[in-house]
Parts: sequence; C-alpha cells; structure tokens
Amino acid sequence: MSNLNFSVQHLRKEYREIFMQSFEEIQKKIEDLRPSGVEGDIFDKFEPLSDGSRWQSEVLDMLENDVSKEVYRKFQEVLAYRSQFNCVGCATCCKLACSEFSPEELKMKAECGDNFATQFLSVFVPYESKEEAREVYPEYIQMLEENKEDNVYFYHCPKVTEDNRCSDYEHRPQICRDFPDNPLSILPCSCGYKKWKEEIEPVTLMLHSMIEIVQYIVRKIYANTCRTKFSRDRKNY
Ligand code: SF4
Ligand code: SF4
Repeated sequence: MSNLNFSVQHLRKEYREIFMQSFEEIQKKIEDLRPSGVEGDIFDKFEPLSDGSRWQSEVLDMLENDVSKEVYRKFQEVLAYRSQFNCVGCATCCKLACSEFSPEELKMKAECGDNFATQFLSVFVPYESKEEAREVYPEYIQMLEENKEDNVYFYHCPKVTEDNRCSDYEHRPQICRDFPDNPLSILPCSCGYKKWKEEIEPVTLMLHSMIEIVQYIVRKIYANTCRTKFSRDRKNY
C-alpha cells in the first residue's frame, strides 16, 4: 500500500470514529429537548400541535439554527486560518484536477446554472489519458487504483507555463484564488497548505460529520412528517 493510500485509510478510520462521537452528541441534544411524557422516535409522525410534533419543531430549530450556524462559524475560522500559510507555486493543482464528473456531465451542470462547474470548465480541459495525469502526481493515481476508484476524470489547465507559472494570473478565476477551500481534499506533499490541512484536520472532520448528520436528520424529519419549513408547530402557538 502506498504512503498516500495509508494516509487516506487512516483518515477514513479517524472520520468514522469522529462521526460516531458527533452522532452521540447530537442524539443527546435531541433527547434533552424531549418533553416529558413523549415517547417514540424523533422521526415518528406525531399528531399536529401535539407535544411530539412541537418536539420535532424544536429539534429542527436547534439543528437548522444553533448547530448549523456554529458549524458555519467554525468553518469560517478554519478558512481564515489558511491565510497564515502560502502557496509555494508547485503548480500541481493547476496540472491535475480530478472530478467524479465527465466533461459532458460538467457541461450539463454548467448549463443548469452550477457556478462551480462553470468556473471549472473555464479553467480545466480533460487529459487524454490517465497516464498523462500519472506523470503529474503518480502517488495519487496509484492510491485511486489501489482503492479501485475508477469513476474519476482527470483535468489540467492549459494556462500553466513550463516554469509552473500562471500565464493569466491577474485574471485567474475565483476557484484558483480560493484553492484549497476544502480542508478535506488531498493535497500534494509539495503544497504550501499541507501543514494548514494537517493542523485543522481533526476539527474539520468533526464539522463535516456534524453537517452530514444534521442534513440527514433534518431531511428525514421533513420527509417522514410531510412538513415543510413553513408548516412547523411553533413553541408559542
Ligand atoms: S488559471 Fe492559472 S492559477 Fe488557475 S489553474 Fe490555470 S494556471 Fe493555475
Ligand atoms: S498545490 Fe498548493 S502550493 Fe502547489 S500551486 Fe497549488 S496551492 Fe500552490
């Protein structure tokens, strides 16, 4: 197993553990809001205006407002801390960008108004073969192969020069200016933001797990109870 694959496997294991801790924490918050006398599960369908239904409303308020806002605030702190580190101009992120979407799929997404897809296509063109991508970052391609991750498309920017400069630096789009904006993305060893990523990894994993759990619970409550955001029972009816 390559070193990069080992790190990825370790990260996944760490994420599973943190996910379970976050899950227990959110479960406790939900139970703390349970009115006395209400039995059943938070996903159950309770009578309108019943204590059970109001419990669900309070849980939705707690998750969509308190928890989500706190997660967002902490993510902003993590991203702000990135300014303490610098790009060292290795150009790996210009020479190799990976996507689960093919060029045709990205084009369709862009036509449907997806801003990221639009920007991505304004910068990157597909490699003709995986072997070209392998020349840029062999460990990364090896890691994908070891994990049998076949559904990956490889892209590069034609504007990067032979001496690793951006030939259109002043007009580079926002996705280039923001990179890396996902603290969970895999960065090459040469990247000047690698240390930033390592330092913030535990808190980022925790925040990511909170988002996953909150989204799952909120969607399931809305779906199971046929609610909309505007049809909740409020505390002070
Ligand atoms: S536009 Fe410039 S900064 Fe952006 S990927 Fe291309 S070479 Fe890199
Ligand atoms: S991989 Fe990191 S250091 Fe290299 S060009 Fe991209 S942002 Fe800069």
